[in-house]
Amino acid sequence: MIRAIPIIDPNEYPPMTTWRLFPTQLPSLVLGWTWVLFAFCLGLAHRLHVDEGVLCGYWRPWVEKRWDFTTTIGHGMIKASWFHEGTRFHERIHVWLYESICFLGFVLALALLPALEWRGSLILWATSGAPWLIPLYLYSAFRWKRRGVTWFQAFYYFTFWERAAYSETKSHRDGEHDRWEL
Ligand SMILES: [Zn+2]
Repeated sequence: MIRAIPIIDPNEYPPMTTWRLFPTQLPSLVLGWTWVLFAFCLGLAHRLHVDEGVLCGYWRPWVEKRWDFTTTIGHGMIKASWFHEGTRFHERIHVWLYESICFLGFVLALALLPALEWRGSLILWATSGAPWLIPLYLYSAFRWKRRGVTWFQAFYYFTFWERAAYSETKSHRDGEHDRWEL
């Protein structure tokens, strides 16, 4: 028998940023805010605002013609114009993933402090978060390729964090977030 996981109304979810663990997430905050500010300065994004510790913006229309995905890297999110509340629930899962990996990086850095010394440990922790997803993307690509999916699907849709986020918000673009109606 498969036991149902607890269903929680996404409106009752904890905030995007887990403030209690704030110091451990610094790498994700620095990376996230930096890339969104960078995109703003390069004229790729506009309408900056902060949502529960995450620096957000919108793609400028000329970018969206080529890339119409809401993109979250660390605590930085650039939204497509079709962004809706369901997308927010989806992206929040990604922010939590980045936080989890930074927490892992923090714990590993502490545990390995005697071997790595403070500089090595600092580098280990500072590079945790989004950079650590790169091998996981590669794993997903190799895991799923040749199973009737395209490279993009293998790289993107079949990563475990996209599976997790999409399971929260099945429909992505039509304004529905019917996860709790299952
Ligand atoms: Zn996603």
